[in-house]
Amino acid sequence: MKYHRIPVGPFATNCVLVEDPETHDGIIVDPGGDGTTIVDRIDTLGIHPVQIVLTHGHMDHCLDTSNLAVQYGVPVAMHAEDLPMYQNLAKQVEALMGPAAAAAFIPDKMVEPTVFLEGGHEVTFGKTTAKVIHLPGHTPGGIGLLFSDEIPVLVCGDTIFRDGVGRTDLWGGSWETLLESINEKVFALPDDTLLVSGHGAETTVGREKQHFPY
Ligand SMILES: [Zn+2]
Ligand SMILES: [Zn+2]
Repeated sequence: MKYHRIPVGPFATNCVLVEDPETHDGIIVDPGGDGTTIVDRIDTLGIHPVQIVLTHGHMDHCLDTSNLAVQYGVPVAMHAEDLPMYQNLAKQVEALMGPAAAAAFIPDKMVEPTVFLEGGHEVTFGKTTAKVIHLPGHTPGGIGLLFSDEIPVLVCGDTIFRDGVGRTDLWGGSWETLLESINEKVFALPDDTLLVSGHGAETTVGREKQHFPY
């Protein structure tokens, strides 16, 4: 696989374009805003998107989901446990950006996810396959996408960051569950596994394990 990390939107969320290097089929992970920037990158890179995947249902990871789903005619995939959050995108947006911004996110204007991913499922595009890992804690339906390349890559949403972990004080968050996801699933991966988080720069499993205070 080949990936491109694009910080977008009001919270510099990492939208991650992942492409199959041979066929250039790709997926758009977390289109959290700045849709035109994402489209420009897709055009420049010559990627052919086949699916949108949401690591979780927080607004800063979903803002341009419907726009891009319509533009490319592709399905939206996420874990079913975060669907209520996605369906309440308007409420999330209103709380953070005001009622005018929320108007675009009333449910009948939104593209509903039709693909529901669970731990152990696979996401395939071109000749590339990612394994879905359920990473609850930051939200109930948080997921990571694991690419078992020579150097493995985990696109892990807001579960773990370079020098930090996801907050658990929002709806459905659980500190114990987050630690379980990190210790038992993320840290079970090889030390050289590259972590592409929902915000900030890449890190590795080995680096975060070394500094992990919990
Ligand atoms: Zn989040
Ligand atoms: Zn986030």
